[in-house]
Amino acid sequence: MSVEINEIVRKYALQNAALYGGKANPKAVMGKVMAEQPELRPRAREVSAATKKVCLEVSSLSFDDICRMTEAIDPSLLEKTKCERKNSLPDLPFAEEGKVVMRMAPGPSGPLHLGHTRVAILNDEYVRRYKGKYINRLEDTNPDRIDPDAYKMIPEDLKWLGVDVDETVIQSDRFELYYDVARRLIDLRKAYVCTCEAEQMREFKEQSRACPHHDQTPEEAHELFSKMLSHHFSEGEAVLVVKTDLHHPNPAVRDFVGLRIVDSVPHPRTGTRYTVYPMMNLSVAVDDHELGLTHVIRGKDHLNNTLRQEYIFNYLGWKKPQYFHYGLVSIPDSILKTSTIREGISAGKFSGWDDVRLGTVRAMARRGIQAEAIRNYWVDVGMKEVDIEFSWDNLYAFNKQIVDKVADRYFFVWDAESIDIVGVDRIEAHCPLHPDHKERGCRDHSLTSPLSVFMTREDLQGFKERGTVRLKDLCNLRWENGQAVYAGNDISVLKEGWKIAHWAPPGAIPAKVLLPDGASKDGVAEPIPASAIGEVIQFERFGFVRVEDVAPSIRAYFAHT
Ligand code: GLU
Repeated sequence: MSVEINEIVRKYALQNAALYGGKANPKAVMGKVMAEQPELRPRAREVSAATKKVCLEVSSLSFDDICRMTEAIDPSLLEKTKCERKNSLPDLPFAEEGKVVMRMAPGPSGPLHLGHTRVAILNDEYVRRYKGKYINRLEDTNPDRIDPDAYKMIPEDLKWLGVDVDETVIQSDRFELYYDVARRLIDLRKAYVCTCEAEQMREFKEQSRACPHHDQTPEEAHELFSKMLSHHFSEGEAVLVVKTDLHHPNPAVRDFVGLRIVDSVPHPRTGTRYTVYPMMNLSVAVDDHELGLTHVIRGKDHLNNTLRQEYIFNYLGWKKPQYFHYGLVSIPDSILKTSTIREGISAGKFSGWDDVRLGTVRAMARRGIQAEAIRNYWVDVGMKEVDIEFSWDNLYAFNKQIVDKVADRYFFVWDAESIDIVGVDRIEAHCPLHPDHKERGCRDHSLTSPLSVFMTREDLQGFKERGTVRLKDLCNLRWENGQAVYAGNDISVLKEGWKIAHWAPPGAIPAKVLLPDGASKDGVAEPIPASAIGEVIQFERFGFVRVEDVAPSIRAYFAHT
Protein backbone atom coordinates (compact mmCIF):
# COMPACT_ATOMS: atom_id res chain seq x y z
CA MET A 1 0.00 0.00 0.00
CA SER A 2 1.53 3.26 -1.08
CA VAL A 3 2.39 6.02 1.34
CA GLU A 4 0.03 8.29 -0.54
CA ILE A 5 -2.96 6.03 0.03
CA ASN A 6 -2.13 5.68 3.68
CA GLU A 7 -2.08 9.44 3.92
CA ILE A 8 -5.53 9.81 2.42
CA VAL A 9 -6.88 7.06 4.64
CA ARG A 10 -5.33 8.70 7.67
CA LYS A 11 -6.79 12.07 6.84
CA TYR A 12 -10.30 10.71 6.64
CA ALA A 13 -9.85 8.39 9.62
CA LEU A 14 -8.84 11.37 11.73
CA GLN A 15 -11.70 13.47 10.43
CA ASN A 16 -14.19 10.66 11.04
CA ALA A 17 -12.90 10.15 14.58
CA ALA A 18 -13.14 13.90 15.22
CA LEU A 19 -16.65 13.81 13.86
CA TYR A 20 -17.73 10.84 15.95
CA GLY A 21 -16.14 11.53 19.26
CA GLY A 22 -12.89 9.67 18.91
CA LYS A 23 -13.71 6.46 17.11
CA ALA A 24 -13.12 6.09 13.39
CA ASN A 25 -15.52 3.91 11.46
CA PRO A 26 -13.67 2.02 8.71
CA LYS A 27 -16.75 1.79 6.51
CA ALA A 28 -17.36 5.53 6.53
CA VAL A 29 -13.67 6.25 6.04
CA MET A 30 -13.49 3.84 3.14
CA GLY A 31 -16.48 5.62 1.56
CA LYS A 32 -14.71 8.99 1.75
CA VAL A 33 -11.46 7.59 0.38
CA MET A 34 -13.26 6.00 -2.55
CA ALA A 35 -15.21 9.16 -3.23
CA GLU A 36 -11.99 11.14 -3.38
CA GLN A 37 -10.08 8.53 -5.34
CA PRO A 38 -12.56 6.54 -7.46
CA GLU A 39 -9.65 5.03 -9.39
CA LEU A 40 -8.83 3.00 -6.27
CA ARG A 41 -12.04 1.00 -6.63
CA PRO A 42 -10.35 -1.98 -8.27
CA ARG A 43 -8.00 -2.10 -5.26
CA ALA A 44 -10.85 -2.00 -2.75
CA ARG A 45 -9.56 -4.97 -0.75
CA GLU A 46 -6.17 -3.47 -0.23
CA VAL A 47 -7.62 -0.07 0.68
CA SER A 48 -10.07 -1.71 3.04
CA ALA A 49 -7.28 -3.52 4.90
CA ALA A 50 -5.30 -0.29 5.23
CA THR A 51 -8.42 1.55 6.36
CA LYS A 52 -9.11 -0.96 9.12
CA LYS A 53 -5.57 -0.74 10.36
CA VAL A 54 -5.40 3.05 10.32
CA CYS A 55 -8.83 3.39 11.95
CA LEU A 56 -7.72 1.17 14.78
CA GLU A 57 -4.58 3.25 15.30
CA VAL A 58 -6.50 6.51 15.18
CA SER A 59 -9.20 5.27 17.56
CA SER A 60 -6.59 4.52 20.20
CA LEU A 61 -5.56 8.20 20.32
CA SER A 62 -7.07 10.63 22.77
CA PHE A 63 -9.85 12.83 21.45
CA ASP A 64 -7.75 15.96 21.88
CA ASP A 65 -4.89 14.48 19.89
CA ILE A 66 -7.30 13.43 17.17
CA CYS A 67 -8.65 16.97 16.83
CA ARG A 68 -5.16 18.48 16.95
CA MET A 69 -3.81 16.13 14.29
CA THR A 70 -6.83 16.62 12.07
CA GLU A 71 -6.40 20.36 12.31
CA ALA A 72 -2.73 20.05 11.45
CA ILE A 73 -3.56 18.30 8.19
CA ASP A 74 -6.25 20.77 7.19
CA PRO A 75 -8.23 22.98 9.55
CA SER A 76 -11.20 22.90 7.19
CA LEU A 77 -11.65 19.21 8.02
CA LEU A 78 -12.73 20.32 11.46
CA GLU A 79 -14.84 23.19 10.22
CA LYS A 80 -16.78 20.63 8.28
CA THR A 81 -17.15 18.63 11.43
CA LYS A 82 -18.63 21.57 13.21
CA CYS A 83 -21.00 22.49 10.47
CA GLU A 84 -22.25 18.96 9.90
CA ARG A 85 -22.70 18.46 13.60
CA LYS A 86 -24.18 21.73 14.70
CA ASN A 87 -26.91 20.01 16.68
CA SER A 88 -24.67 17.81 18.68
CA LEU A 89 -26.17 15.55 21.31
CA PRO A 90 -26.02 16.62 24.96
CA ASP A 91 -23.55 14.85 27.19
CA LEU A 92 -24.87 11.98 29.26
CA PRO A 93 -24.78 12.33 33.04
CA PHE A 94 -22.40 10.01 34.90
CA ALA A 95 -20.67 8.95 31.71
CA GLU A 96 -17.04 8.15 32.19
CA GLU A 97 -14.76 7.55 29.25
CA GLY A 98 -14.14 3.85 28.78
CA LYS A 99 -16.84 2.81 31.24
CA VAL A 100 -20.05 3.43 29.33
CA VAL A 101 -22.04 0.32 28.30
CA MET A 102 -25.07 0.76 26.10
CA ARG A 103 -27.24 -1.46 24.00
CA MET A 104 -29.66 -1.96 21.22
CA ALA A 105 -32.28 -4.59 22.08
CA PRO A 106 -34.29 -5.55 19.01
CA GLY A 107 -36.67 -8.48 18.85
CA PRO A 108 -35.62 -10.74 15.95
CA SER A 109 -38.99 -10.63 14.22
CA GLY A 110 -37.47 -9.30 11.02
CA PRO A 111 -34.68 -7.03 9.84
CA LEU A 112 -34.40 -3.48 11.16
CA HIS A 113 -36.60 -0.71 9.84
CA LEU A 114 -36.24 3.05 10.03
CA GLY A 115 -37.99 3.16 13.40
CA HIS A 116 -35.20 1.06 14.94
CA THR A 117 -32.45 3.22 13.54
CA ARG A 118 -32.97 6.02 16.05
CA VAL A 119 -32.05 3.94 19.05
CA ALA A 120 -29.32 2.16 17.11
CA ILE A 121 -27.66 5.43 16.11
CA LEU A 122 -28.10 7.38 19.36
CA ASN A 123 -26.50 4.57 21.31
CA ASP A 124 -23.68 4.32 18.81
CA GLU A 125 -23.04 8.06 18.97
CA TYR A 126 -22.70 7.94 22.74
CA VAL A 127 -20.63 4.78 22.79
CA ARG A 128 -18.23 6.42 20.37
CA ARG A 129 -18.15 9.62 22.37
CA TYR A 130 -17.28 7.85 25.60
CA LYS A 131 -15.28 5.03 24.00
CA GLY A 132 -17.67 2.61 25.58
CA LYS A 133 -19.10 -0.78 24.74
CA TYR A 134 -22.03 -1.44 22.39
CA ILE A 135 -24.09 -4.53 22.99
CA ASN A 136 -26.55 -5.84 20.45
CA ARG A 137 -29.01 -7.91 22.46
CA LEU A 138 -31.41 -10.02 20.46
CA GLU A 139 -34.58 -10.28 22.52
CA ASP A 140 -36.03 -13.54 21.30
CA THR A 141 -38.19 -14.61 24.21
CA ASN A 142 -41.45 -14.47 22.32
CA PRO A 143 -41.31 -17.55 20.10
CA ASP A 144 -44.45 -16.44 18.29
CA ARG A 145 -42.65 -13.49 16.84
CA ILE A 146 -39.30 -14.74 15.64
CA ASP A 147 -38.01 -14.88 12.12
CA PRO A 148 -34.94 -17.14 12.16
CA ASP A 149 -33.37 -15.08 9.39
CA ALA A 150 -33.46 -11.99 11.60
CA TYR A 151 -30.56 -13.30 13.72
CA LYS A 152 -28.42 -12.73 10.65
CA MET A 153 -30.22 -9.76 9.15
CA ILE A 154 -30.14 -7.50 12.23
CA PRO A 155 -26.34 -7.60 12.62
CA GLU A 156 -26.03 -7.01 8.87
CA ASP A 157 -28.30 -3.98 9.13
CA LEU A 158 -26.34 -2.59 12.08
CA LYS A 159 -23.12 -3.06 10.18
CA TRP A 160 -24.57 -1.24 7.19
CA LEU A 161 -25.65 1.59 9.50
CA GLY A 162 -22.06 1.91 10.64
CA VAL A 163 -22.89 0.84 14.17
CA ASP A 164 -19.89 -0.73 15.87
CA VAL A 165 -21.17 -3.67 17.88
CA ASP A 166 -18.73 -4.95 20.50
CA GLU A 167 -20.78 -7.86 21.78
CA THR A 168 -23.87 -9.75 20.68
CA VAL A 169 -26.10 -11.38 23.28
CA ILE A 170 -29.01 -13.66 22.50
CA GLN A 171 -31.59 -13.96 25.24
CA SER A 172 -32.57 -17.51 24.37
CA ASP A 173 -29.07 -18.52 25.54
CA ARG A 174 -29.94 -17.25 28.99
CA PHE A 175 -33.08 -19.04 30.22
CA GLU A 176 -31.34 -20.43 33.30
CA LEU A 177 -30.30 -16.96 34.34
CA TYR A 178 -33.89 -15.72 34.21
CA TYR A 179 -35.04 -18.75 36.21
CA ASP A 180 -32.38 -18.07 38.85
CA VAL A 181 -33.54 -14.50 39.25
CA ALA A 182 -37.17 -15.67 39.44
CA ARG A 183 -36.15 -17.99 42.30
CA ARG A 184 -34.36 -15.18 44.07
CA LEU A 185 -37.43 -12.98 43.81
CA ILE A 186 -39.52 -15.84 45.24
CA ASP A 187 -37.07 -16.16 48.15
CA LEU A 188 -37.50 -12.45 48.80
CA ARG A 189 -41.32 -12.87 48.68
CA LYS A 190 -41.32 -10.54 45.72
CA ALA A 191 -42.73 -13.03 43.25
CA TYR A 192 -45.53 -15.60 43.26
CA VAL A 193 -47.03 -18.09 40.88
CA CYS A 194 -50.51 -17.09 39.84
CA THR A 195 -53.02 -19.48 38.35
CA CYS A 196 -55.88 -17.00 38.06
CA GLU A 197 -57.60 -16.52 34.73
CA ALA A 198 -56.10 -13.55 32.90
CA GLU A 199 -59.38 -11.65 33.12
CA GLN A 200 -59.63 -12.26 36.87
CA MET A 201 -56.08 -11.10 37.36
CA ARG A 202 -56.81 -7.86 35.56
CA GLU A 203 -59.85 -7.20 37.74
CA PHE A 204 -57.89 -7.74 40.95
CA LYS A 205 -55.24 -5.31 39.80
CA GLU A 206 -57.69 -2.70 38.70
CA GLN A 207 -59.29 -2.85 42.13
CA SER A 208 -55.88 -2.77 43.86
CA ARG A 209 -56.67 -6.13 45.42
CA ALA A 210 -54.30 -9.00 46.00
CA CYS A 211 -55.22 -12.19 44.14
CA PRO A 212 -55.48 -15.42 46.21
CA HIS A 213 -51.89 -16.34 45.23
CA HIS A 214 -50.28 -13.03 46.15
CA ASP A 215 -49.31 -14.07 49.67
CA GLN A 216 -47.86 -17.48 48.87
CA THR A 217 -44.96 -18.58 51.03
CA PRO A 218 -41.65 -18.94 49.17
CA GLU A 219 -41.99 -22.74 49.58
CA GLU A 220 -45.38 -22.76 47.89
CA ALA A 221 -44.18 -20.45 45.15
CA HIS A 222 -41.03 -22.56 44.53
CA GLU A 223 -43.10 -25.69 44.23
CA LEU A 224 -45.48 -24.09 41.74
CA PHE A 225 -42.62 -22.57 39.78
CA SER A 226 -40.98 -26.02 39.54
CA LYS A 227 -44.28 -27.32 38.23
CA MET A 228 -44.27 -24.61 35.60
CA LEU A 229 -40.79 -25.70 34.57
CA SER A 230 -41.67 -29.41 34.55
CA HIS A 231 -44.63 -28.99 32.19
CA HIS A 232 -47.21 -29.66 34.87
CA PHE A 233 -49.02 -26.54 33.67
CA SER A 234 -49.76 -25.67 30.09
CA GLU A 235 -49.80 -22.36 28.33
CA GLY A 236 -52.08 -19.86 30.05
CA GLU A 237 -52.49 -21.93 33.20
CA ALA A 238 -49.82 -20.36 35.37
CA VAL A 239 -47.53 -17.33 35.36
CA LEU A 240 -44.86 -16.04 37.66
CA VAL A 241 -45.85 -12.56 38.85
CA VAL A 242 -43.46 -9.93 40.16
CA LYS A 243 -44.93 -7.93 43.02
CA THR A 244 -44.89 -4.15 42.81
CA ASP A 245 -47.38 -1.93 44.59
CA LEU A 246 -51.03 -2.86 44.25
CA HIS A 247 -51.90 0.73 45.05
CA HIS A 248 -49.62 2.20 42.42
CA PRO A 249 -51.58 5.06 40.79
CA ASN A 250 -50.89 3.51 37.40
CA PRO A 251 -52.69 0.11 37.16
CA ALA A 252 -50.22 -0.94 34.43
CA VAL A 253 -47.44 -0.90 37.00
CA ARG A 254 -49.27 -3.02 39.61
CA ASP A 255 -47.93 -6.61 39.88
CA PHE A 256 -46.69 -7.67 36.45
CA VAL A 257 -46.08 -11.01 34.77
CA GLY A 258 -42.40 -11.95 34.82
CA LEU A 259 -42.49 -15.39 33.22
CA ARG A 260 -45.14 -17.30 31.31
CA ILE A 261 -45.54 -20.64 29.56
CA VAL A 262 -45.48 -21.00 25.79
CA ASP A 263 -45.79 -24.61 24.67
CA SER A 264 -47.80 -24.15 21.48
CA VAL A 265 -44.83 -23.17 19.30
CA PRO A 266 -41.27 -24.39 19.48
CA HIS A 267 -38.48 -21.82 19.65
CA PRO A 268 -36.38 -21.64 16.48
CA ARG A 269 -33.18 -21.95 18.52
CA THR A 270 -34.09 -23.93 21.61
CA GLY A 271 -36.96 -26.01 20.27
CA THR A 272 -39.11 -27.35 23.09
CA ARG A 273 -36.32 -27.45 25.70
CA TYR A 274 -37.64 -24.37 27.47
CA THR A 275 -41.34 -23.64 27.65
CA VAL A 276 -41.19 -21.09 30.47
CA TYR A 277 -40.35 -17.77 28.87
CA PRO A 278 -39.44 -14.50 30.57
CA MET A 279 -41.57 -11.49 29.70
CA MET A 280 -39.52 -8.55 28.53
CA ASN A 281 -39.65 -6.67 31.84
CA LEU A 282 -37.93 -9.52 33.61
CA SER A 283 -35.39 -10.44 30.94
CA VAL A 284 -34.57 -6.80 30.15
CA ALA A 285 -34.01 -5.94 33.82
CA VAL A 286 -31.89 -9.04 34.39
CA ASP A 287 -29.78 -8.49 31.31
CA ASP A 288 -29.38 -4.76 31.75
CA HIS A 289 -27.95 -5.59 35.16
CA GLU A 290 -25.92 -8.66 34.17
CA LEU A 291 -24.39 -6.94 31.17
CA GLY A 292 -23.49 -3.88 33.21
CA LEU A 293 -25.55 -1.36 31.27
CA THR A 294 -24.74 2.16 32.42
CA HIS A 295 -27.14 4.13 30.22
CA VAL A 296 -30.33 2.98 28.56
CA ILE A 297 -31.90 5.00 25.77
CA ARG A 298 -35.40 3.94 24.81
CA GLY A 299 -38.64 5.35 23.48
CA LYS A 300 -41.27 6.93 25.72
CA ASP A 301 -43.46 3.90 25.04
CA HIS A 302 -41.20 2.11 27.53
CA LEU A 303 -41.88 4.49 30.43
CA ASN A 304 -44.12 2.00 32.25
CA ASN A 305 -41.64 -0.76 31.56
CA THR A 306 -38.88 1.28 33.13
CA LEU A 307 -41.03 1.69 36.25
CA ARG A 308 -41.67 -2.05 36.39
CA GLN A 309 -38.05 -2.95 35.79
CA GLU A 310 -36.92 -0.61 38.56
CA TYR A 311 -38.79 -2.77 41.07
CA ILE A 312 -36.58 -5.72 40.15
CA PHE A 313 -33.43 -3.59 40.46
CA ASN A 314 -34.55 -2.33 43.84
CA TYR A 315 -35.49 -5.78 45.21
CA LEU A 316 -32.14 -7.23 44.26
CA GLY A 317 -30.11 -4.20 45.30
CA TRP A 318 -28.76 -3.70 41.80
CA LYS A 319 -27.43 -0.37 40.61
CA LYS A 320 -29.81 1.06 38.05
CA PRO A 321 -28.64 2.36 34.71
CA GLN A 322 -29.45 5.94 33.76
CA TYR A 323 -32.64 5.83 31.70
CA PHE A 324 -33.55 8.24 28.90
CA HIS A 325 -36.86 8.21 27.07
CA TYR A 326 -37.13 9.94 23.74
CA GLY A 327 -40.44 10.91 22.15
CA LEU A 328 -42.34 8.64 19.81
CA VAL A 329 -41.77 8.85 16.10
CA SER A 330 -44.44 8.21 13.55
CA ILE A 331 -43.15 7.43 10.12
CA PRO A 332 -45.67 8.42 7.44
CA ASP A 333 -46.10 6.76 4.06
CA SER A 334 -44.09 3.74 4.93
CA ILE A 335 -44.64 0.05 5.40
CA LEU A 336 -42.87 -1.01 8.58
CA LYS A 337 -44.93 -3.73 10.18
CA THR A 338 -42.96 -6.95 10.09
CA SER A 339 -45.98 -9.24 9.85
CA THR A 340 -47.45 -7.24 6.96
CA ILE A 341 -44.14 -7.33 5.14
CA ARG A 342 -43.63 -11.04 5.72
CA GLU A 343 -47.11 -11.85 4.44
CA GLY A 344 -46.53 -9.56 1.46
CA ILE A 345 -43.27 -11.32 0.64
CA SER A 346 -44.81 -14.78 0.77
CA ALA A 347 -47.77 -13.63 -1.30
CA GLY A 348 -45.34 -12.32 -3.91
CA LYS A 349 -46.50 -8.74 -3.39
CA PHE A 350 -43.07 -7.57 -2.26
CA SER A 351 -39.84 -8.76 -3.85
CA GLY A 352 -38.16 -9.23 -0.45
CA TRP A 353 -37.18 -7.34 2.71
CA ASP A 354 -35.39 -4.82 0.52
CA ASP A 355 -38.38 -4.05 -1.68
CA VAL A 356 -38.09 -0.30 -2.20
CA ARG A 357 -41.67 0.28 -1.12
CA LEU A 358 -40.75 -0.76 2.43
CA GLY A 359 -39.35 1.22 5.34
CA THR A 360 -36.67 -1.35 6.13
CA VAL A 361 -33.02 -0.43 6.43
CA ARG A 362 -32.36 -2.74 3.49
CA ALA A 363 -34.85 -0.89 1.33
CA MET A 364 -33.16 2.41 2.23
CA ALA A 365 -29.81 0.95 1.21
CA ARG A 366 -31.23 -0.30 -2.03
CA ARG A 367 -32.56 3.14 -2.85
CA GLY A 368 -29.22 4.78 -2.24
CA ILE A 369 -30.05 6.39 1.08
CA GLN A 370 -26.71 6.59 2.86
CA ALA A 371 -26.22 5.27 6.37
CA GLU A 372 -24.55 8.56 7.24
CA ALA A 373 -27.68 10.47 6.19
CA ILE A 374 -29.79 8.38 8.55
CA ARG A 375 -27.24 9.03 11.28
CA ASN A 376 -27.18 12.76 10.67
CA TYR A 377 -30.97 12.80 10.69
CA TRP A 378 -31.21 11.22 14.15
CA VAL A 379 -28.36 13.22 15.61
CA ASP A 380 -30.19 16.32 14.43
CA VAL A 381 -33.45 15.15 16.02
CA GLY A 382 -31.52 14.26 19.14
CA MET A 383 -33.04 12.93 22.34
CA LYS A 384 -36.11 15.16 22.26
CA GLU A 385 -38.94 14.01 24.45
CA VAL A 386 -41.67 15.44 22.26
CA ASP A 387 -43.35 13.11 19.82
CA ILE A 388 -42.44 13.80 16.24
CA GLU A 389 -43.39 12.85 12.75
CA PHE A 390 -40.50 11.55 10.72
CA SER A 391 -39.66 13.91 7.88
CA TRP A 392 -38.71 12.21 4.65
CA ASP A 393 -37.84 15.60 3.24
CA ASN A 394 -35.24 16.13 5.95
CA LEU A 395 -33.79 12.67 5.48
CA TYR A 396 -33.54 13.33 1.76
CA ALA A 397 -31.91 16.70 2.40
CA PHE A 398 -29.27 14.98 4.56
CA ASN A 399 -28.79 12.35 1.90
CA LYS A 400 -28.45 14.94 -0.82
CA GLN A 401 -25.70 16.71 1.13
CA ILE A 402 -23.72 13.49 0.85
CA VAL A 403 -24.59 12.10 -2.58
CA ASP A 404 -24.70 15.38 -4.50
CA LYS A 405 -20.93 15.67 -4.19
CA VAL A 406 -20.18 12.16 -5.35
CA ALA A 407 -22.97 11.21 -7.77
CA ASP A 408 -22.05 11.23 -11.43
CA ARG A 409 -24.59 12.79 -13.75
CA TYR A 410 -26.34 11.00 -16.60
CA PHE A 411 -29.32 11.70 -18.83
CA PHE A 412 -32.44 9.58 -18.47
CA VAL A 413 -35.29 10.35 -20.82
CA TRP A 414 -38.65 9.05 -19.71
CA ASP A 415 -41.61 8.87 -22.08
CA ALA A 416 -38.94 9.07 -24.75
CA GLU A 417 -39.59 10.31 -28.27
CA SER A 418 -37.01 10.48 -31.00
CA ILE A 419 -36.55 13.68 -32.94
CA ASP A 420 -34.44 14.36 -36.02
CA ILE A 421 -32.16 17.40 -36.08
CA VAL A 422 -31.40 19.10 -39.36
CA GLY A 423 -28.90 21.73 -40.35
CA VAL A 424 -25.81 20.05 -38.95
CA ASP A 425 -23.73 17.01 -39.88
CA ARG A 426 -21.99 16.23 -36.67
CA ILE A 427 -21.97 17.31 -33.02
CA GLU A 428 -19.45 16.26 -30.43
CA ALA A 429 -21.00 16.47 -26.98
CA HIS A 430 -18.88 16.53 -23.83
CA CYS A 431 -21.18 16.32 -20.86
CA PRO A 432 -19.33 16.59 -17.54
CA LEU A 433 -19.82 13.68 -15.16
CA HIS A 434 -20.10 16.24 -12.38
CA PRO A 435 -20.60 19.97 -12.88
CA ASP A 436 -18.34 20.91 -9.95
CA HIS A 437 -15.69 18.29 -10.57
CA LYS A 438 -14.62 18.64 -14.16
CA GLU A 439 -11.56 16.54 -13.39
CA ARG A 440 -13.78 13.47 -13.29
CA GLY A 441 -14.19 13.73 -17.04
CA CYS A 442 -17.09 13.68 -19.43
CA ARG A 443 -19.65 11.48 -21.07
CA ASP A 444 -18.67 11.92 -24.70
CA HIS A 445 -21.22 11.48 -27.44
CA SER A 446 -20.51 11.82 -31.10
CA LEU A 447 -23.69 12.46 -33.06
CA THR A 448 -23.41 12.05 -36.79
CA SER A 449 -25.74 12.56 -39.71
CA PRO A 450 -28.61 11.81 -39.87
CA LEU A 451 -28.78 13.32 -36.39
CA SER A 452 -31.43 12.42 -33.88
CA VAL A 453 -31.87 12.48 -30.11
CA PHE A 454 -34.43 11.30 -27.60
CA MET A 455 -36.40 13.83 -25.57
CA THR A 456 -39.22 13.40 -23.11
CA ARG A 457 -42.64 13.80 -24.67
CA GLU A 458 -43.29 16.82 -22.48
CA ASP A 459 -40.05 18.61 -23.36
CA LEU A 460 -40.64 17.96 -27.04
CA GLN A 461 -44.12 19.35 -26.83
CA GLY A 462 -42.84 22.47 -25.01
CA PHE A 463 -40.14 22.90 -27.66
CA LYS A 464 -42.67 22.78 -30.45
CA GLU A 465 -44.94 25.25 -28.71
CA ARG A 466 -42.21 27.75 -27.82
CA GLY A 467 -40.21 27.23 -30.98
CA THR A 468 -36.85 27.05 -29.16
CA VAL A 469 -34.99 24.76 -26.77
CA ARG A 470 -31.46 24.27 -25.53
CA LEU A 471 -30.35 20.67 -25.20
CA LYS A 472 -27.98 20.60 -22.27
CA ASP A 473 -24.31 20.27 -23.20
CA LEU A 474 -25.30 19.65 -26.83
CA CYS A 475 -26.80 22.49 -28.86
CA ASN A 476 -29.65 24.94 -29.38
CA LEU A 477 -32.61 24.08 -31.59
CA ARG A 478 -35.32 26.04 -33.30
CA TRP A 479 -38.57 24.55 -34.44
CA GLU A 480 -39.03 25.68 -38.00
CA ASN A 481 -41.43 24.34 -40.60
CA GLY A 482 -42.12 21.22 -38.61
CA GLN A 483 -38.42 20.44 -38.12
CA ALA A 484 -35.86 20.76 -35.34
CA VAL A 485 -33.17 22.98 -36.82
CA TYR A 486 -29.69 23.29 -35.37
CA ALA A 487 -29.18 26.79 -33.95
CA GLY A 488 -25.61 26.80 -32.69
CA ASN A 489 -24.29 26.11 -29.26
CA ASP A 490 -24.25 29.46 -27.49
CA ILE A 491 -25.49 28.98 -23.99
CA SER A 492 -26.34 32.65 -23.58
CA VAL A 493 -29.75 31.78 -25.08
CA LEU A 494 -30.65 30.72 -21.55
CA LYS A 495 -30.41 34.36 -20.52
CA GLU A 496 -32.91 35.17 -23.22
CA GLY A 497 -35.31 32.81 -21.56
CA TRP A 498 -34.80 29.65 -23.64
CA LYS A 499 -35.77 26.54 -21.75
CA ILE A 500 -33.24 23.80 -21.20
CA ALA A 501 -33.98 20.14 -21.73
CA HIS A 502 -32.00 16.97 -21.42
CA TRP A 503 -31.71 14.35 -24.07
CA ALA A 504 -30.27 10.95 -24.88
CA PRO A 505 -28.23 9.86 -27.88
CA PRO A 506 -29.61 7.47 -30.49
CA GLY A 507 -27.60 4.64 -28.93
CA ALA A 508 -29.45 5.09 -25.62
CA ILE A 509 -30.34 2.02 -23.62
CA PRO A 510 -33.78 1.07 -22.28
CA ALA A 511 -33.99 2.20 -18.66
CA LYS A 512 -36.42 1.67 -15.84
CA VAL A 513 -36.50 3.56 -12.54
CA LEU A 514 -38.50 2.00 -9.74
CA LEU A 515 -40.13 4.48 -7.41
CA PRO A 516 -40.80 3.96 -3.69
CA ASP A 517 -44.55 4.08 -4.25
CA GLY A 518 -44.36 0.99 -6.45
CA ALA A 519 -44.71 2.85 -9.72
CA SER A 520 -41.93 3.01 -12.27
CA LYS A 521 -40.67 5.37 -14.92
CA ASP A 522 -39.65 3.84 -18.22
CA GLY A 523 -37.49 5.37 -20.85
CA VAL A 524 -33.98 5.38 -22.23
CA ALA A 525 -30.69 6.55 -20.78
CA GLU A 526 -27.14 7.17 -21.83
CA PRO A 527 -24.95 4.08 -21.47
CA ILE A 528 -23.72 3.80 -17.89
CA PRO A 529 -20.48 1.99 -17.01
CA ALA A 530 -20.67 -1.22 -14.98
CA SER A 531 -18.60 0.46 -12.25
CA ALA A 532 -21.71 2.49 -11.39
CA ILE A 533 -23.63 -0.60 -10.28
CA GLY A 534 -24.49 -0.16 -6.61
CA GLU A 535 -23.63 3.54 -6.73
CA VAL A 536 -25.85 6.57 -6.53
CA ILE A 537 -25.95 8.66 -9.68
CA GLN A 538 -28.06 11.62 -10.63
CA PHE A 539 -30.38 11.41 -13.57
CA GLU A 540 -30.33 15.08 -14.40
CA ARG A 541 -33.63 16.87 -13.98
CA PHE A 542 -35.09 13.68 -12.55
CA GLY A 543 -33.37 12.82 -9.29
CA PHE A 544 -30.84 10.67 -7.48
CA VAL A 545 -31.08 6.96 -8.10
CA ARG A 546 -29.09 3.90 -7.13
CA VAL A 547 -28.01 1.82 -10.08
CA GLU A 548 -28.86 -1.83 -9.88
CA ASP A 549 -28.03 -2.94 -13.42
CA VAL A 550 -26.66 -1.37 -16.59
CA ALA A 551 -26.95 -4.04 -19.27
CA PRO A 552 -28.74 -5.19 -21.34
CA SER A 553 -31.02 -2.54 -19.89
CA ILE A 554 -30.58 -0.04 -17.09
CA ARG A 555 -32.45 -0.57 -13.86
CA ALA A 556 -32.29 1.88 -10.99
CA TYR A 557 -34.10 2.75 -7.78
CA PHE A 558 -35.24 6.24 -6.99
CA ALA A 559 -33.91 7.93 -3.85
CA HIS A 560 -35.13 11.53 -4.06
CA THR A 561 -34.96 14.62 -6.23
N1 GLU B 1 -36.93 -5.44 22.92
C1 GLU B 1 -37.46 -4.21 23.42
C2 GLU B 1 -37.77 -3.29 22.28
O1 GLU B 1 -37.12 -3.32 21.25
C3 GLU B 1 -36.52 -3.66 24.45
C4 GLU B 1 -36.22 -2.24 24.45
C5 GLU B 1 -35.82 -1.71 25.82
O2 GLU B 1 -35.92 -2.43 26.82
O3 GLU B 1 -35.39 -0.57 25.87
O4 GLU B 1 -38.70 -2.53 22.34
